[in-house]
Amino acid sequence: MNKGKLFIISAPSGAGKTSLIKKLIPHMDKLIVSVSHTTRARRPGEIDAIDYFFTSVDTFKKMIHQQAFLEYAQVFDNFYGTAQSSVEQSLNSGKDVILEIDWQGAEQIRRILPDSISIFILPPSTEVLRRRLKERGQDGEAVIDRRMQDAVNEMSHYAEYDYLIVNDDFNTALTELKSIILANRLNIQRQQEKLKVLLVDLLV
Ligand code: 5GP
Repeated sequence: MNKGKLFIISAPSGAGKTSLIKKLIPHMDKLIVSVSHTTRARRPGEIDAIDYFFTSVDTFKKMIHQQAFLEYAQVFDNFYGTAQSSVEQSLNSGKDVILEIDWQGAEQIRRILPDSISIFILPPSTEVLRRRLKERGQDGEAVIDRRMQDAVNEMSHYAEYDYLIVNDDFNTALTELKSIILANRLNIQRQQEKLKVLLVDLLV
């Protein structure tokens, strides 16, 4: 069984990362999204164990102590982390795994797993970003202002990533995201492992 690959996807809130990933998953086999743990409050419509594992600060700290996280970070006053066990299991079963995490988490993952692939998604403009944050209707004006500031901070790390996508037209961005994953699946090392039998057969 060939091991799967880790794809890190980062973006400021409002860039459309979650919608893109939700649309991508049903179109691709052997690709899953890791469900993170977070200490932030659940937003309307979010489901525990689907969107996040909503966790108390105490439990989160216990998990840090037990070294249960592959990576974790503090983002917007809350903790977010990727549990190691489920990601490892999925990779070992040959599935590719998407981590929807911030730049701090991406930095940690690159150190542990240097062959992971990282993708950054940008909004097409500041105006569109602000509008998207407003349209969500989930946060007040003050929170939106704070999130706009945090977005600039997050976006300032774009150059640390392997790929950059601008989410202006949704379907174009989706095709681009899919292309990156497909291209990496066709990488020579992966193909050599996957096609061992065929390659031996063809070259006799
Ligand atoms: P939100 O609260 O809007 O769902 O997410 C806020 C930020 O936390 C986003 O940038 C998101 O990518 C990041 N995030 C979500 N899960 C994780 C995680 O497991 N680890 C890290 N480092 N960041 C995460």
